[in-house]
Parts: sequence; C-alpha cells; structure tokens
Amino acid sequence: MSHEWDNEPSAGFPEGSTGAAGMDPDGVIESNYDKVVESFDDMNLREELLRGIYAYGFERPSAIQQRAILPCVEGNDVIAQAQSGTGKTATFSISILQQIDITDPYCQALILAPTRELAQQIQKVVIALGDYMNAKCHACIGGTNVKDDVRNLEKGMHVVVGTPGRVFDMIQRRALRTDHIKMFVLDEADEMLSRGFKDQIHDVFKNLGESTQVILLSATMPLDVLEVTKCFMRNPIRILVKKEELTLDGIRQFYVDVTKEEWKFDTLCDLYETLTITQAVIFCNTRRKVDWLTDQMTKKDFTVSALHGDMLQPERDLIMRAFRSGSSRVLITTDLLARGIDVQQVSLVINFDLPTNRENYIHRIGRGGRFGRKGVAINFISEADRRILKDIESFYNTDIEEMPANVADLI
Ligand code: ADP
Repeated sequence: MSHEWDNEPSAGFPEGSTGAAGMDPDGVIESNYDKVVESFDDMNLREELLRGIYAYGFERPSAIQQRAILPCVEGNDVIAQAQSGTGKTATFSISILQQIDITDPYCQALILAPTRELAQQIQKVVIALGDYMNAKCHACIGGTNVKDDVRNLEKGMHVVVGTPGRVFDMIQRRALRTDHIKMFVLDEADEMLSRGFKDQIHDVFKNLGESTQVILLSATMPLDVLEVTKCFMRNPIRILVKKEELTLDGIRQFYVDVTKEEWKFDTLCDLYETLTITQAVIFCNTRRKVDWLTDQMTKKDFTVSALHGDMLQPERDLIMRAFRSGSSRVLITTDLLARGIDVQQVSLVINFDLPTNRENYIHRIGRGGRFGRKGVAINFISEADRRILKDIESFYNTDIEEMPANVADLI
C-alpha cells in the first residue's frame, strides 16, 4: 500500500467501540505481537549504543522497551501504547540509533513532537544514548533563530527532532533534506494526529519517501486516531502494555472538594508546604489563569514559576532549565506540559482545573511518578466539576478518593 493520507477530519472522542480493527471497547489497542526481550544485551544492538544505554544508567529495559525495540529495529511500522513515564522515548531513540548509518551525514530519522520543550528533551536523550556513536541530533523548534537552524542542519545531522511547523519550514527551504529519511516517528501520536496538528503532519509526511518506516507512540490512542493511521501505515505491529503491567498504579489520585471556584486558591496555599517536599506541577486550563494564579501566589510570598505558550522561547527555556535543575520547585502551567515532560523529582501533580479532555488527565498525572517512582495527583473540584471527575473515574476505571489529611506522608 502506498502512503496516502485520509483527509477526513477526525471525529470527536468516540463513545465506545465502533469495531475498528485492533481496538478493544476500552479504547486501547490490542497487541498483535508478543515477543519479549528481557535484557538490552539480548537485543543485538551495536556495541557503542549498548555502552551509551548503560552509561545513561539504564540496567534493564522497561516493559515497552522489551517489546517494541526489536520490531522497530527490524524495520516494521509500529504503534506502541504504554503509560506515561515507562520509557517510550528511549524505545524509539534506541531503535533509531541502531538503524542509522553514521557515515551518512544526512538526516535519516525524523521525530515530531507536539511541544518545543518535549522536542528539546528528546534531543537530549538521543544525544546521550548515542554519545559513543557520535550520533548528531538537532532540535528544530519554533521560537528559535531560523538561520541558526539552517546552519546547524548544514553541518549534517543524523537525527532531527522537532515541532511540525519549523520542521516543515526547514523542508521547504531545502535546509532539511528528506531523501535519506528512513524512519518517521510521531511521539504523542494521538495529539499529533488530532485536529490541530494533522494537516501539518501531512505536509511533512508528503515529503517522505514511500518506504519510510513509521513509528507512533503514546500513552493514549483514541479510536478515531487509530483509524487515521490505517491510511499511512502498512500492517503495523501493535504493542500495548496493559494496565496491569504498568506503573501508573504508583500514582495515588485524590480530590479536594472546594465547592466554589474561589476557594481553590486558599486550598492551594494551604498545600504549599506539601508542594515543596519534592517538586510539583500545577495545571490550569488557560494561560490567563496561569498568570493570575502565579501573581496571586507571588503576592502571598510563595515561590512559584510559570510556563505557557504565550511566553517567548528564551524565557520558556530558562524556566524549564530552572525546573529541571530543581532550583524552582513549583511550576504552574497549561496543557503545554501535560505530555511527555520528564522531570524525575516531580512527585505531585495538582489539577487546579480539571482537564477539558480525558486523555490529558492521564498525561497530566503522569508527570509525577516517573518510571515507577511514587506520585500523588490531587484534583480540585468545584461543584460543577463533580460530574467530570466521575466521568474520569469511570473512563479509567479507577478510584479517586478524598484527599487524606496526611497526604504529605505519601509523597
Ligand atoms: P514516556 O515517554 O513513556 O513518558 P520516558 O521515556 O520519558 O517515558 O521515561 C521516563 C523516565 O524513565 C525517564 O527519566 C527515563 O530516563 C527513565 N527510563 C526509561 N527507560 C529506563 C530504563 N530502561 N531503566 C531506567 N530508567 C529508564
């Protein structure tokens, strides 16, 4: 089958199954592959890559790595679904690094991600794992100097990771050659194939060769998105790491019934000490609310930082760096950071506002409890939110209990 693209707009969130192949009614893909490789040594990886993996501190592959690296390395189209924080980034990074030809200076693998911060984070992982191979990886993201981007690409980059707009721009300028690209990876694939990004992804995809291998990864994979994948993937191997095998169980979920929206702020102030035990991320639904909440907290002498998409890239970089280093401990943000961002010290996530879609709930709370660490998520609930919380509970088949007084002990 050739690479065609279905331009049908994707439907809204599906209610139950409409019988798409490879889906079960819970909205998760069904695996059609069950081979497991329990150690990195047994994956037949190149020596320098293996060294990079161990030097990075990984000892054993995670569940998704045990299942997905091999089929990716073998060149199959792959859809991989596994919970947040279980090592999907390294899954595709290792698969790419195993397949690139270091002597070919042109881009051979292209990774797209929904946010600049996530693209930068992925770049760092690729560079670190590929350290002993001399693999070159460039982040192509908006908000940075275009000329610098062009110049960097001219130097020769084996791997490019970026956000769709800038990547497409670089392709159009012929700064990014696509004729050597043999792997195309969409991280947070369901987000990338949703309405906001779909056309941009299509623009990039049109420029890739017919035989390009396509790899999709996400913690969530709604049915409508899976339908879209049929148009540009060939007999994909589907790998699902099931709930029971996942570590999200390590995240305790609570709610605080604040009754009135106005009382959320005082509730947050009361929790401030708990927030700073390690590091915390607080989610609001709008940029304005992030600014407002940051202002209010600062006026009360609480130290918090803020990050959202209206801020200029240099400032975004600065805030992210401070948060990653631990010098800032409480970060107030929007869904910009709901997906992918990996700061291991984050053990508490607060939904000041409940997310407006179900997928983002699981992505948000997955910012805590990375790779099986302990995590706590606290949802602030006004009267109007009760129904949404019930919906989340039933969708994820999980219990969200009232926050206990000793919540700090759980962090
Ligand atoms: P995901 O993309 O699934 O949300 P990440 O790839 O960001 O998760 O990985 C989450 C964290 O787990 C990262 O800090 C990463 O370094 C760590 N990690 C991934 N794989 C391993 C492994 N095999 N051993 C130890 N830590 C790992």
